[in-house]
Amino acid sequence: MPVRFLTLLAAALLVALVPHLLWGPLAGAVVALGWTLGWAALQLQRAKRLERWLKQPEGAAPDTMGGLWGDLADRLRRLLTQRDRQVKEHAERLQYFLRALQASPNGVTLLDAQGRIEWCNATASAHLGLDLQRDHLQHVVHLLRDPVFSRYVAQDTHEGEVLIDGRSQSLSRRVRLSVQLHPYGDGQHLLLSRDVTAVQQAEAMRRDFVANVSHEIRTPLTVLAGFVETLQTLDLQEDQRKHILEMMATQAGRMQTLVEDLLTLSQLEGSPPPGLQERFDLPGLMRQIEQDARSLSALSSPHHQTPAHTLVFAPVPDWQIAGVRPEIYSAMSNLVSNAVRYTPPGGEVRVGWSRAADGTAWLEVSVTGPGIAAEHLPRLAERFYRVDRSRSRETGGTGLGLAIAKHAIVRHGGELRIRSQVGKGSSFMLGLPPSRIHESATVPA
Ligand code: ADP
Repeated sequence: MPVRFLTLLAAALLVALVPHLLWGPLAGAVVALGWTLGWAALQLQRAKRLERWLKQPEGAAPDTMGGLWGDLADRLRRLLTQRDRQVKEHAERLQYFLRALQASPNGVTLLDAQGRIEWCNATASAHLGLDLQRDHLQHVVHLLRDPVFSRYVAQDTHEGEVLIDGRSQSLSRRVRLSVQLHPYGDGQHLLLSRDVTAVQQAEAMRRDFVANVSHEIRTPLTVLAGFVETLQTLDLQEDQRKHILEMMATQAGRMQTLVEDLLTLSQLEGSPPPGLQERFDLPGLMRQIEQDARSLSALSSPHHQTPAHTLVFAPVPDWQIAGVRPEIYSAMSNLVSNAVRYTPPGGEVRVGWSRAADGTAWLEVSVTGPGIAAEHLPRLAERFYRVDRSRSRETGGTGLGLAIAKHAIVRHGGELRIRSQVGKGSSFMLGLPPSRIHESATVPA
């Protein structure tokens, strides 16, 4: 700086020297003043250009400036470029973290120190019904009006999580969320939300299932214990003893059937989905089912000799089925045995196969009789659901037959359909997808 200044002074003196020598000191002073003013005007103009550029640094840089202003402009340009690069890097990093939070399967909402929403991912939007544009910087307690949540937020510490109702897309589905606040930074909080609807439902189903199984086992067990006590305490005659032992055998049989059905269900749930390699003949399977049905129906006739129902088995197509035979047998025999058990003696049971236009193969078991009221139909395949509990017990039912049938057929990619008309009868259908049916010919019954 002093060097520049001295050079400037020397130049002014040199410029003024000639007029000074030619026309005297006044002329020299005027020329020196003029030169200095010109120089100052030039500096002012450069300073203005720099100022203009600083106001709009994205425009072309004043790179034609020399001297002090040029150095200054260079230095500023470098600083600005460096700052731009840092801003870009920070923005990219921020996007990177937001993308990671966006990918989280849980809802993530960032709250500032006042509990206002700064950002949330799409899952949190869906869980809590938030719209980031609309709700940005809104207080979270004003938007989530669950009293449990308000109390939780008001606490000093937020250990553990709380359960609140979430926003559901459909009115019929109640969504339950587990939410927890995690402090971070300078008073900010991370609000994590998890959809626990399925977990809660599974837990409720498990509780119901255990309660149902215990109840189903306790009843015959209590009866058995009563009979044992009778045998131990009373001096009975031979025919009385025989009668009691027969009733004990019936109760033991009921428990056995229940345990077998439970094992079948747990096997269905635990084993891998059936592949397409394993195959079996449909006619053989249907012969077995028909024999079972005739024997079961005969039990309802006076001398157990002939079936008590009219059993009509239509000709069975000569198909091969790709699937697990015991599972398909279990599904189909449950439908046919139910038909026999729930149809009063003298009624008619029809069993037949057909192929729909989309290739699905349907087994239809239709029965005459009182039919089933519409409100029961959607729940019939639930475990332990019965329309008439005592009728089910009388006929040796466990309440698991249709649950097993549905599970087994769904595992094979098929479906169970139930139709019924009160006073007319019912129709139970099992559909198998075309990929599992291998046709060859139709054989007469
Ligand atoms: P269960 O062992 O009691 O028969 P299922 O799961 O097989 O249990 O059937 C559930 C309920 O559906 C039965 O208790 C009965 O009320 C009703 N049901 C099933 N099949 C028939 C049918 N063919 N006709 C009338 N009701 C039926």
